[in-house]
Amino acid sequence: MSKLLEGKTALILGLANKWSIAYAIGQAMAREGAQLILTYQGERLQKTVTDLGAELGASKILCCDVTSDEDIARLTETLKADSVTLDAVVHSIAFANKEDLSRPFLETSRDGYLLAQNVSSYSFVAVCNAVVPLMPNGGSIMTLTYLGSTRVCPNYNVMGVAKAALEASVRYLAYDLGPRNIRVNAISAGPIKTASARGIKDFSAMHELVAAHSPMKRVTDPAEVGDSAVFLASHLGRGVTGNILFVDAGFQIMAM
Ligand code: NAP
Repeated sequence: MSKLLEGKTALILGLANKWSIAYAIGQAMAREGAQLILTYQGERLQKTVTDLGAELGASKILCCDVTSDEDIARLTETLKADSVTLDAVVHSIAFANKEDLSRPFLETSRDGYLLAQNVSSYSFVAVCNAVVPLMPNGGSIMTLTYLGSTRVCPNYNVMGVAKAALEASVRYLAYDLGPRNIRVNAISAGPIKTASARGIKDFSAMHELVAAHSPMKRVTDPAEVGDSAVFLASHLGRGVTGNILFVDAGFQIMAM
């Protein structure tokens, strides 16, 4: 069987370690023949991401803090200088202060609220705007979201509000970029044990609840998210834009 992403180049932002959802997406995309370009946030992660990038056969590994307009511009200038054309872009980035993921949402500070929005939501808009010139043939842009955008998941708090803004951004960006044949979607993954997830108070309880109550009676395997990202990036996903694709063992349909 031919590979689904043969001849395509994918930029993946947000790979921190081998537990990252971005890593599972990178594995799936590399398996399907995509050439990968990875970014990491800062020097702290350079060694780990370089090692994982070598394992995935990534052609470039670049630094980009998405809260910095200069970093985003430098990233796209570097790619442009190397005549890179992108077919897929994955934004797998979020951050909120740990205390805002444990105390009541009511007590969220202005700074904490803006930080979560800046890193987890606005950065997607900024990245989309920056990569569009690198996608002259159209393509697929995707981000990662969570059910806490529309339902109350205790302790998810400020991140749920950021994800709500992120999902609305997906729809507006899909509208803006549709005429260029660039599709914009989000994957809403079920709880997965990653470094970011461990910052949410009682995350293990969320994980266990999903395993007990989802229709499939299990949690989400990161590889399933990777395969859905391949679908969205591939020719098979060509009619899908502005969509929130749930990859969560069906948990989102349950009321009790
Ligand atoms: P992760 O491995 O910790 O990935 C989060 C990434 O965001 C890390 O690489 C992190 O880098 C990066 N990041 C944070 N601030 C950044 C900045 N200013 N500039 C550039 N990168 C920055 O955790 P993950 O669970 O895979 O999260 C990936 C995405 O999936 C997030 O959007 C998350 O909300 C979403 N998601 C996760 C789950 C889950 O249960 N795990 C479920 C649904 C959706 P540093 O490590 O350097 O901070």
